[in-house]
Amino acid sequence: MIKKLFSVIFLFCLCAGIFSGCTQAQSSSSAATVKELYAMDTVITLTLYSDNAQEEITKVNEEIKRLENLFSATIDSSDVSRINKGAGSYVLVSQDTLNVIETALCGGKMSDGALDITVYPIVKAWGFTTGDYKVPKDSEISQLLKNVNYNNITVDKENSSVKIEKNMALDLGAVAKGYTSACIAQLLKDMGETAAIVNLGGNVETVGEKEDKSKWTVAIENPNKKDYLCKLSVNECSVITSGAYQRNFTQDGITYHHIIDPATGYPANSGITSATVVADNSALGDALSTAVYVMGVEKAIKMYQVYRCFDFVILDDSNTLYVSQGLKDNFQLADDTSLTVKYVNE
Ligand code: AMP
Ligand code: MG
Repeated sequence: MIKKLFSVIFLFCLCAGIFSGCTQAQSSSSAATVKELYAMDTVITLTLYSDNAQEEITKVNEEIKRLENLFSATIDSSDVSRINKGAGSYVLVSQDTLNVIETALCGGKMSDGALDITVYPIVKAWGFTTGDYKVPKDSEISQLLKNVNYNNITVDKENSSVKIEKNMALDLGAVAKGYTSACIAQLLKDMGETAAIVNLGGNVETVGEKEDKSKWTVAIENPNKKDYLCKLSVNECSVITSGAYQRNFTQDGITYHHIIDPATGYPANSGITSATVVADNSALGDALSTAVYVMGVEKAIKMYQVYRCFDFVILDDSNTLYVSQGLKDNFQLADDTSLTVKYVNE
C-alpha cells in the first residue's frame, strides 16, 4: 500500500507552479489550496482555487466516502459486496453502481474483454485485494478463469438491479476511481468552483479553466526514471494512467503486477510499460487505460481508430512512446534522448 502511495503520487500535475503533494501553493494569479486525503486505497490530492476551499474539502470527503462505501469489494455492506454475496440473484443497487457497471461493460465490449470486472476472483487469488501476495497454482487459475466473463453480468436498469452468475464476483477497481473523480468534479462545480485539479492516485481530472484562461499542464510519470515522460496541455478533461509499477510484488526474482489479462489469469504481459488515456469521460477513460495496458499497442491502436473517443500516450517496453494524433500539438516530450516518439493517426 505504501509503495503504491509513493509511486502514484509521481504522476503529478503542474499548473502555474503547483505540484500535487504540496500542502499549500501559490499560482500566478490566485492562491490555491492543496489538500491531500487518503481513501480508496490511494492518495487523493485536491487543488482548489475558490475562497470556499474548506467547505469544498469537507463535501468532497463525504462524497468519496459515500462512493467508496458503494464500490469497495472489501467493505461488507457495499453494493459490490452485496452483488458478490448474492451471486445468482438480482441485487438492488444505487444509480452510481449501475453507472459504473454500465461503463465497465462498455469498456469490456470496446476492448473485446481486455477489461473484465469479473476478474475479481483471480485478483484475489494473487493477493492484490489484501496485500497477502502469492503466485497461485496454474490449476487454480484455470479453475477460476471458468467464471470470468463480463457477458454474464445482467443489468436491470428499470429495477436498479444487477445479477451475476453463481461463482462470479465483481471488482470495480479499474473504473471506480475515474467515476469518483467525475463525481468530485461535478460536486465542485455545483459548489461554484471554476478551476480545480482532482488527482486520485494518478487519475488526474482538470475542472473548469484557469483564471488566465491558459491550458492546464499535466505531466505523465516515466516509471523507468521516476521522472516525467511528457507534459500535456489540456482543457477540462481527465488523464488516467495504468501501469504495472503501481502495484506489484516480487517472488523468486519475478515481478508480478495487479493488472490481470482475463484471457490468461496472469498479470498482463503485452509489452506496455504505462498506458495513459485522455478522455472527457473519466470513468470510461479509467476503464480504457486498464484495457489498453492489457491489450498491447497494436490492439489498443485499433480500438482508438474504431471508437475515436479518447487519446493516448503509451510507453512500451522498448522506450517507444506512442502518442495519438489529438495530442500532437499539445505534447511536450521530456528531455530524454532514449525515447522514440511515434504519432498515431485516427
Ligand atoms: P487500474 O489501476 O485502473 O488500471 O485498475 C487496476 C485494478 O483493476 C486492479 O487493481 C484490479 O483490482 C482490477 N483489475 C485488474 N485487471 C483487470 C482487468 N483486466 N479488468 C478489470 N479490472 C481489472
Ligand atoms: Mg483503470
